Amino acid sequence: MADDNRRPLPEGLRPETLAIRTGLARSQHGEHSEGLFLTTAYVQSDAETSARKFANSEDFTYSRTSNPTVRSLEARMAALEGTEAAIATSTGMSAILLLAMGLLKSGDHVICSRSVFGSTINLFVKEFGKFGVETSFVSQTDLAEWRAALKPTTRLLFAETPTNPLTDICDIRALADIAHGAGALLAVDNTYSTPALQRPAEMGADIIMHSATKYMDGQGRVMAGALCGPNKLIRDIFGPVLRTVGMTLAPFNAWVVLKGLETLSLRMKAQSEQALAVARWLEAQPEVDRVYYPGLASHPQHDLAMRQQGGQGGAVLSFDLKADTPEAARAAAFHVIDSTRVISIATNLGDTKTIITHPATTSHGRLTEAQRQAAGIGQGLIRLAVGLEHVDDITDDLLRGLSTLTTR
Ligand SMILES: *Cc1c(COP(=O)(O)O)cnc(C)c1O
Repeated sequence: MADDNRRPLPEGLRPETLAIRTGLARSQHGEHSEGLFLTTAYVQSDAETSARKFANSEDFTYSRTSNPTVRSLEARMAALEGTEAAIATSTGMSAILLLAMGLLKSGDHVICSRSVFGSTINLFVKEFGKFGVETSFVSQTDLAEWRAALKPTTRLLFAETPTNPLTDICDIRALADIAHGAGALLAVDNTYSTPALQRPAEMGADIIMHSATKYMDGQGRVMAGALCGPNKLIRDIFGPVLRTVGMTLAPFNAWVVLKGLETLSLRMKAQSEQALAVARWLEAQPEVDRVYYPGLASHPQHDLAMRQQGGQGGAVLSFDLKADTPEAARAAAFHVIDSTRVISIATNLGDTKTIITHPATTSHGRLTEAQRQAAGIGQGLIRLAVGLEHVDDITDDLLRGLSTLTTR
């Protein structure tokens, strides 16, 4: 798609520019802002043209198949991830559904990090388990476990980095080598870092998956998802599945995310800097036992994270409160959460508004206590998705609870 009908963009533009300038196929009106095409069908000039367009799925015929606003978003996402193509979906989970439907059949085997998003685990185990797809779960950080899990039927390795809530990092390049050595593909969920910080395709990943609901929208307004990758996967495999199955992104949501992408780089850098400041501040608080944040030198994979994530830690951090028993830890965590007056108590991330979450009773609430212990998610753990309020207002808000803890 030409980015301007008469002046194609020059080669070699930088990501900040791509996020603003790609995917702009202007209509005859020459609108400056991205057009929002709320239409289900497209009028054809005659039956011959209609027949030709229906034979070529690249043309606009019906919005389950393609829509100009959605197409703009796909072009912009592909440009940012540095892949040939992208396909947008209604949510992040429907992007993983599309990935699995496109690549897997009964008898296939998937290797997945144990620490990925909870619904991702359910999708592979509960939904695709029904159809005879087997999934092995391995350590986020121990490459030997990934290698040992390989089988002749392994088709896909699936990773997410950093993880929620403990910010464990996996080595994307090493996982790509393991996958390719076994004739499998590597898919990376890049929701947390976004291409503003981390471009998995440059490290050998075959497919990059997004919940654009998070930082790509960036202001908590719409649900959206995407897969980015080469034409031979996106256009030839995932496109036909999406057209049949219909996990299509709504044009309005695509338009909101398009506008969000224009400020993605600024937001990711600013929110990462704020998160680093909050993480350092938390490390100095006597009530805090440990802070999990890739930007801190104390993070066990700090060097790998900085290499992979463009020198930034991202906007999500977690911290553990000091306590003698799980009950005391939970009471302390609830006290800190309930003492906030600015930060939102919610279970989401990727917003300009800072969000505080108690993983053990929300995102990881359905695990058994033993599973939570194994995952390192204690009752005293608090996750913070740092937004764009003044950083001193965020730390002041946390101090309200920390300074009045009875264990102090
Ligand atoms: C939110 C999220 C998803 C799922 O995306 P939805 O848009 O909520 O469907 C997948 N992976 C990660 C890492 C997420 O944070």
